Amino acid sequence: MVKCPFCNWEGQEFLPYGVNLRKNAKCPKCNSLERHRLIYLYLKKILNKHKPLKVLHFAPEKILINLFKSYKNIEYLSADINPKKAMQKENLTHLSFEDNSFDIIICNHVLIYIEEDKKAMKELYRILKPKGFAILQEPVFRDKNKTFENFAITDPKERENIFGGFNHVRTYGKDYISRLMNAGFKIKINNFAKSLKKREVKKFSLSKEDIYICSKPETKKERYFASWVMTDMCNFDCEYCSRRTKGKINPLPINKIVKTLKETKKPWVIGMTGGEPLLYPNFIELCQELTKNYKIALDTNLSLNKKVKEFANTIDPKKVEYIYISAHILEREKRNEVEEFIKNLLLLKAKKFNFSVNYIMHPILIKRFKKDYNYFKSKGIKLSPKPLKGEYNGKTYPESYSEQEKRMILGYDLKASTKLPFYCKGMKCKAGNTFILIQPDGTVTRCFHDKTILGNIFQNIRLNKTIKPCQMYKCNCFGYELIEDYQKEKIKQTFNYSIEKFAHL
Ligand code: SF4
Ligand code: SF4
Ligand SMILES: [Zn+2]
Repeated sequence: MVKCPFCNWEGQEFLPYGVNLRKNAKCPKCNSLERHRLIYLYLKKILNKHKPLKVLHFAPEKILINLFKSYKNIEYLSADINPKKAMQKENLTHLSFEDNSFDIIICNHVLIYIEEDKKAMKELYRILKPKGFAILQEPVFRDKNKTFENFAITDPKERENIFGGFNHVRTYGKDYISRLMNAGFKIKINNFAKSLKKREVKKFSLSKEDIYICSKPETKKERYFASWVMTDMCNFDCEYCSRRTKGKINPLPINKIVKTLKETKKPWVIGMTGGEPLLYPNFIELCQELTKNYKIALDTNLSLNKKVKEFANTIDPKKVEYIYISAHILEREKRNEVEEFIKNLLLLKAKKFNFSVNYIMHPILIKRFKKDYNYFKSKGIKLSPKPLKGEYNGKTYPESYSEQEKRMILGYDLKASTKLPFYCKGMKCKAGNTFILIQPDGTVTRCFHDKTILGNIFQNIRLNKTIKPCQMYKCNCFGYELIEDYQKEKIKQTFNYSIEKFAHL
């Protein structure tokens, strides 16, 4: 016995259907086919009943129209090139809708009729909302790698013989997925029929085809980051420091900084770094001034206790994107300041600042990390191990960590593998576009390594208009966040040392 899950018709068998007659296919009561019943059951399972959803349904199948209309939270619209077949006339290659209009789009067995299918896919992508999804089912010949199309074949009989339908213009092969991806979609293949019980598949006579869930990723907001090296001076004397200098700080005029940054019309996060930025004259007033217009971020050793307290008590944590705090445990022990440090951290925690306490896994420290980690944990503070980026005893790190050491670092923090150095020459990098470096003297350069001058903080900054290739050899600052995704892939493939390898040990 079979049963239609939609109209509840029951019988010995569904009717045969198709050019090459398929047995047990069409419901005699509601005309649904195997693939319709599959999508019907799938949607019934996943559709949200509460969130308001806008649905666009192309070449509407009756079974799905009724399904969507039974949901009170769904605003439903159907469309077709033939106005008699739907609520609205639409041409898939020139849709009348605005960008990002629909949460769900259903368009099954339509693209095989359209010569410009790639254009249609782009249009569907355009009108789908970010985080929305489309179901775009087409007959896909899985034994064929490539799609076959020939628009010179126009004779209906010939088309039927070659493409399986008198007005089809192609047969899709396995590259159907890459066509969709080229339009921008992220594809998840769901074999829903497999997730059901065999007797259900039989009872409802369902298609076993894969369902292509085509989603539109949320568009990332461009992040603008101005890293300001406020000074090279530091009150600490870490053995492994490469930056620190002695001397005097010449403060830059804050009103000029704000004015020049404002002229770029970008929503900068101002990353205050050093040396030790809290040594900067009138540091708290400066933060107060900057946070009127911008968010700030801070790299600090958190040792200037009075200033730390003032900062925590006067600056709005919502205006501080993050505070990157270095543990430098040997320095603190030398100064007998470990407990004071923990007090400062607990104060930031109580005020709900977003911070991390980073412990550089220097070869001289790696053995004591576990003990320090447990001690800080007992005080309510999490230490995050960070791989050393640099040289020690003639060896280059992080490349020189043993496998066991890498495993240990990742065991404590999986994210420790991000922001590792990589070979960057020639890669297109947004440093100079969405990232700038402000030097202690006010000169603005592309990044820490590439000192190409983009202006200065007293007059103006000329951001690059195009994304330029990196001219440096090795990047160990923010570069990984600034290169494009496909370049990240390239890094993973090309170099013997890679972030992914490190992450998957
Ligand atoms: S705290 Fe940072 S800048 Fe200061 S000496 Fe240590 S490593 Fe260098
Ligand atoms: S990849 Fe790194 S070194 Fe190269 S331009 Fe970008 S940030 Fe600078
Ligand atoms: Zn039926």
